[in-house]
Amino acid sequence: MQHFSILIVDDEEDFVETLVSRLKKRDVDAIGVRSGEEAIEYIKKKEFHVVIMDIKMPGGIDGIEAMRLIKKEHPQTEIILLTGHASIETSIEGMKFGAFDYILKPVKLEDLLKKITSALEKKKMQDENR
Ligand SMILES: [Mg+2]
Repeated sequence: MQHFSILIVDDEEDFVETLVSRLKKRDVDAIGVRSGEEAIEYIKKKEFHVVIMDIKMPGGIDGIEAMRLIKKEHPQTEIILLTGHASIETSIEGMKFGAFDYILKPVKLEDLLKKITSALEKKKMQDENR
């Protein structure tokens, strides 16, 4: 997964730190932020291949809204939503707004890595067809 950049957006600091370090071990350029607002600021400075977005975060904008804003500016960025049992419906709604997939918390890293890999494969195929 080299040369890929991934933005992780989640208000749970430990989760973000763990995921960032484990992705970095796999040579992925991973950056973690803690809110939808921060994600939107970051996305202005740098293009990400995949964004991992928690749905429920404190602050002005939730994960779905942040996703919509990101997709508007960067339609090619693939978004994987992180959801708890209580917000599965919201995730399914999110798919209609262009999320690539969603994954239930607590996240198994292997499952998330598989979804990231599929999102990257989709991007690769799109790039080849362009
Ligand atoms: Mg959260």
